[in-house]
Amino acid sequence: MTIKIKVKTPIVEMDGDEMTKIIWQMIKEKLILPFLDINLKYYDLGVKHRDETDDKVTVDAAHAIKEFGIGIKCATITPNADRVKEYNLKEQWKSPNGTIRAILDGTVFRKPIIMKNIPPALKAWKKPITIGRHAYGDIYKNTEYVVDKPGTAEIVFTPKDGGRKVTLSIHEFKGRGVVMGIHNIEESIRSFAQSCINYAIDEKIDLWFGAKDTISKKYHGFFRDLFAEEAEKAKERIRQAGIQYRYLLIDDAVAQIVKSPGGMLWACMNYDGDVMSDMVATGFGSLGLMTSVLVSPDSKYEFEAAHGTVTRHYYEHQKGKPTSTNSIASIFAWTGALVKRGEIDNTPQLVTFARTLERIVIATVESGIMTKDLMAIAEPPVSKYALTGEFIDVVSERLKKAL
Ligand code: NAP
Ligand code: MG
Repeated sequence: MTIKIKVKTPIVEMDGDEMTKIIWQMIKEKLILPFLDINLKYYDLGVKHRDETDDKVTVDAAHAIKEFGIGIKCATITPNADRVKEYNLKEQWKSPNGTIRAILDGTVFRKPIIMKNIPPALKAWKKPITIGRHAYGDIYKNTEYVVDKPGTAEIVFTPKDGGRKVTLSIHEFKGRGVVMGIHNIEESIRSFAQSCINYAIDEKIDLWFGAKDTISKKYHGFFRDLFAEEAEKAKERIRQAGIQYRYLLIDDAVAQIVKSPGGMLWACMNYDGDVMSDMVATGFGSLGLMTSVLVSPDSKYEFEAAHGTVTRHYYEHQKGKPTSTNSIASIFAWTGALVKRGEIDNTPQLVTFARTLERIVIATVESGIMTKDLMAIAEPPVSKYALTGEFIDVVSERLKKAL
């Protein structure tokens, strides 16, 4: 048996639900614990345990990430009415990711894993396109009203200091229609811009930001100006990283992305990020290949797979049927956290271990061993798919040999 690599500082581990919980356990048992001497601060975010603790465990986990700097999270159920019944829950607990994001603040970056035999839908794409989504405000915190008779809709701003009210007309309705009020705040936009700039510098990739400031001169213009100011402040670091900051109109950005070779961070306003991250994920192949990391303005990191708990596969598993669920994005959540831990702790052996594991995963798929979701799109085609556990076993065997 090889000597285990010592991980200096603890990592916060957040366990989850369903199929991803099963995968999580396999990864830990076969790819992590045999090789690392690691102190994991364990939090069970499985929906039953969140329910038992009145969701306090999620808050505790987020604070632990603040303390130790790095967390890894398994996918979790965000309960709806059906789940409340299924798991006999006290209430429809909020999304754990939302709770963690609210405590850490920050930006979610999603990056696809690229493999030679999993061609993207767009031939031009050669390098990953990372999406940085602003996760606050705009239509996600809106106030809407259906107008059902003639009348005037206005924006009214009432200053707290007793100053003069500002009233702006939105529209004089002659009949039925609809109206919406949205907002954003400077602090959040600046922290979004800073997170994106830091990520781009870390990864040494260009940073693009797109908005529609030709039409929305004030709202979108506000984003454009704050982004430009933050990029200006970081000018020297951006230059040293050998990267560029580009502002584009959002429609131009979409057109440029589609014909580009990739390899940039695309900073998106909230709605654009919601829509475009699904386009990019699907364009690169499978949800099972999409990684996700939350980066806070004070450089705390939370790594996870972008997909959910893969419920449909879990129900099959519960019936005793074999499953072929892709574990790659979950494995890369672990390696992403380990690389970051190694960089911060200055332990290069840990970085090398994590990079080796990533290389082996990619080489395994490229050698034709893959789960069913990838088999559907692999080129050249393969005739057989690996079961969930089989894939991890092959990676584990190859990892033992490589070390
Ligand atoms: P999902 O778990 O991402 O799965 C949707 C479908 O995508 C699956 O049924 C499967 O398609 C395919 N898929 C996703 N990941 C895969 C993988 N690793 N390997 C192979 N196929 C994969 O999304 P969902 O069904 O909408 O949500 C299920 C639960 O996850 C919900 O309770 C939701 O609240 C939760 N969720 C959690 C997170 C998070 O914790 N970050 C994010 C999203 C959703 P086929 O069935 O066609 O094979
Ligand atoms: Mg979406």
